[in-house]
Parts: sequence; structure tokens; C-alpha cells
Amino acid sequence: MATTTPRLDGRTALVTGAGSGIGRAIADRFAAEGARVVYADIDEQSAREAADASGSQAVRMDVSDEQSVEAAYADLTARGASPDVIVANAGVQLFGQDAKTADVPLEAWNRTLAVNLTGTFLTVKHGVRALLASGGGSIICTGSPTGLNGEGADFAAYSSTKGGIHSLVRATAMAYAGDNIRVNTVVPGFTETSLVTTISEDPGAREGIVGRTPLGRAGTPDDVTGIMVYLASDESSFATGAIFRVDGGMTSL
Ligand code: ADP
Repeated sequence: MATTTPRLDGRTALVTGAGSGIGRAIADRFAAEGARVVYADIDEQSAREAADASGSQAVRMDVSDEQSVEAAYADLTARGASPDVIVANAGVQLFGQDAKTADVPLEAWNRTLAVNLTGTFLTVKHGVRALLASGGGSIICTGSPTGLNGEGADFAAYSSTKGGIHSLVRATAMAYAGDNIRVNTVVPGFTETSLVTTISEDPGAREGIVGRTPLGRAGTPDDVTGIMVYLASDESSFATGAIFRVDGGMTSL
């Protein structure tokens, strides 16, 4: 929910995976808080529709492809929209393919790593370059409980990418702390979006996850937008290399 005083006035934010789900909620909230927002997604049409609805801009970006990532940043610079805030949020979870370790096909492993871990790396790599050129800013990555505790047992590839993202955030935060670049992770809990539709359609699995969530419900994309606004603004100027868990208590069990 937007506050009456815009907290991101004058900021330009790039959000990946902004065509749907958590990414779209973040981008919409940033726009409501006064930021100039660029909605980036491999699905250009959904990014454009979402951006149009909030009077924002869109760019096609396949985070797993370095040329596509570089082209998207170059496009932003050409439009005079070089970002101060970068949210590396795009991701996939290959339900039906990702599984317990002994059952993960190499193809599913490679695809999950390409989008989630390499994609986050490329978004952050070129984001750091853009921020070094412009004097600094804030990078926020979307992590997961599966990268922190045993929640990832049934999704070896997905949980490995999320653990990798948590480490990438720390490494990058330490490397650029002297350059006015802050890097943090937000860990949403079990959130009902299209990415988890398969789980949601299995009442047993859904009840199991909600049962392991102390606050007793599934999250919504809007549950994580407040922490994102905090991390995008100067209110968080002393926070870097941190993991912010907004997971209903799941990882404190
Ligand atoms: P979540 O629950 O994480 O919000 P969604 O499936 O709703 O999951 O959203 C993930 C978004 O990431 C989708 O809009 C999807 O198109 C986007 N996405 C998936 N792969 C890529 C990619 N390679 N590059 C950029 N965006 C991607």
C-alpha cells in the first residue's frame, strides 16, 4: 500500500521479472512511491502491459543472456533512465522437473542455474558497472527460504541457485562497499503467484507449507514491497550484505 509521501521521488529503478508476480508488485509499488520504473522481463508483452498500467517504461531482457542484459542497460542509458536501484528478481522454478538431488535431470539443473543464478549474476554484474559510472545506488536480489534451510529438499536445483544468490550478494556487497553501492537480499516466504501455481493446486502441499509458516498463511506479492521500498531508499543507508526475511517466520522455525 502506498504512503501519501512518495519515498522514491527522483529515483530510477530497474526491476527484472516485472511482468508478473512478485516482480510486478515491486515495480508497481516503486512507481506508486514516485520512482521512474523500468519493467524488464523476457516476456516483453507482459512487461509492457504492466508498465503501461503504471505509466512506466518496459524493456525486453533475458537475464540468462549477457548480450540481452547489456543491450537492456544500454537502452536505459540511451533513454536517460540509468538506474539508481536494481532489483534482480527474475527467476524460474521448474515444477515437475526439479526434484530431490538424485532425480534432477541435468537439463533442468542447467536451465534453473542459467536463469536464477547466472541471470542474477549478469543483472548484478552490469548493474554494478552502471552504478559505478553514476556514483552508486542500491541493488536488491530475491532470495528464498530454500537457500537458507531444509525447505529446498524437493527442489535441489532451485534451492542451490537461491543459496548461490545469497552468497553473490555478500561477495558483491563487500567488494563495492567503498563505492556507495549497497547490495541486499530479500527472502519472501511461500508466496502465491503463478510460479507456485502447481503447489497451490495441490492442497496437501499447500497446507504443508502454510503449516510450516508460523504466521499461518501464504504470502502475497505485496508482503515484500515495503522492505523493497526501504532498501531502495536512503532509509536503508547503513544496510548492506544483509538478508531480510519476510517469510511469515518460516526460516525461524
Ligand atoms: P514469482 O513468484 O517469483 O513472482 P513469476 O513466475 O510470477 O514468479 O514471475 C517470474 C517472472 O520472471 C516472469 O514474469 C517471467 O517471465 C520472468 N522471467 C523468467 N525467466 C526470465 C528470464 N530469463 N529473463 C527475464 N525474465 C524472466
